[in-house]
This record gives sequence, C-alpha cells and structure tokens, in this order.
Amino acid sequence: MTGYKRVLLKLSGEVFGGGKVGVDPDVVQTVAREIAAVSRAGVQIAVVTGGGNFFRGAELQQRGMDRVRADYMGMLGIVMNCLALQDFLEKLGVETRVQTAITMGQVAEPYIPRRAIRHMEKGRVVIFGAGMGMPFFSTDTVAVQRALESKCDVVLVAKSGVDGVYTADPHLDPTATKFDELTYDEAISRGLRIMDQTAFALCGENKLPMVVFGMEPEGNILRVVQGEKIGTLVSA
Ligand code: UDP
Repeated sequence: MTGYKRVLLKLSGEVFGGGKVGVDPDVVQTVAREIAAVSRAGVQIAVVTGGGNFFRGAELQQRGMDRVRADYMGMLGIVMNCLALQDFLEKLGVETRVQTAITMGQVAEPYIPRRAIRHMEKGRVVIFGAGMGMPFFSTDTVAVQRALESKCDVVLVAKSGVDGVYTADPHLDPTATKFDELTYDEAISRGLRIMDQTAFALCGENKLPMVVFGMEPEGNILRVVQGEKIGTLVSA
C-alpha cells in the first residue's frame, strides 16, 4: 500500500461520454465500480469531473458564442456527469454527496469544504461539480484546488486513450515516449499539454504529487491507490 489516506480523482468528460457527446451509462457504471472498490478498501475519495463530453467554453467561443456564457454551459454540463456518477455509485450501495460550485439546491449541496471533509471521514464519496463556478478555468485546475483545500494526499488523473504523460501527443507523434516520473518544472518547461499549465503550477507550488494513468484496463484506479507503479508520477 502507498499509505494514501485520501485521494482526489480527476475524471475528464471524455471518460463519461465513452468518446461521444452525452453520458454513456455503461461506461459510468464501470467507473463507479472502480470508485466503489477504492472506497471499500478504506481510502477516502473525492472526485472532480470534467465536462468536455458536453461543452467546452473555448470551443463554443470559436464558433461565435460569448466565452463567459459558453463557460457557464460547460459548468452545467459537468453537473450532469456528477449526477450520473452519483446514481451508479448509490446503486452499488456507496454513499455519495455531490457538491457544486454553482448553487442548485434541488440537485446538490453547495460547495462547503469542511463539510466535504466530514463526508469523506464518514466514508462517503464526494463529487465536486460545476468546476470552480467561474469562467476561464478548467477542471484540471479545479481538481488541484479541491485536492489542496480538502487535504488530499495525491491527485489521480485518469485518462481515456492514453496511459501516462508522453513527450508529445502519442496519437499525433509516433516517436513520443512515456515518462515514468517527471517534475512539475519539467512538465511546465516542456509545455506538456496533458494537464493545463495552471494545474501543474498549483500542484508544484504546493508539493502535491500527481499520478496520470490510463483508465484501461478496468481496476487501474485501485491499482494506483494500492501503490502499483503505472502511468506517470509527477512531483515537485
Ligand atoms: N469550466 C469553467 N470553469 C471551471 C471549470 C470548467 O468555465 O472552473 C467550463 C469550461 O468551459 C470548460 C468546461 O467547463 O471547457 C468543461 O470543463 P473541462 O474542459 O475542464 O472538462 P474536461 O476537459 O476535463 O472534460
């Protein structure tokens, strides 16, 4: 075991959509099973979900929309992913709370950091939704901020289609090679795009480790939590 007591898992929107627009219930069910396994192993876990399977503000802006409004649409998309994940977790008998950065009392609790910590101490999975509640941010940065504020030991970044940090995008550059380990300074100076640069900088400044790994095969989230060396470890 790694000794991780509390982890923050970042799931990008792609994971929820199974590569398409919207939510693929089969995929979400699989992800929920993996999160349940981590929780049952006695490790506290919070999740930050992305929303790229619905809307990305920057993309809508390029197609003529106002960036701020488009970013709010992005944040609302994120909440749908949170609710889907909550549903499948609860079907597995795992107590779950969604906390959103934009208040919407009918569907979720507001973001209250100390309460989130309390939920985790009681063994509940906390899902943080609606990003930071502010335009011009990405959920990568939110994942790091939430991990810091809720005192997580590590940020786990689960990716679909790529199994770690590479020198370049392996889908575009066949000569790209994977890092087993990397520092935040290197990630920033090489301009690596797997996470946004603000997220790398915030993690680095606060010496919070990050593991970037692939969702496939099933079970990888628990493997990482249990200390198996898969993916790429990024540290200060
Ligand atoms: N977003 C935002 N503020 C935040 C987090 C997200 O405005 O604090 C918006 C932004 O438009 C972003 C979209 O929500 O493109 C979806 O989030 P993101 O792109 O980070 O999702 P992912 O790439 O992880 O699926």
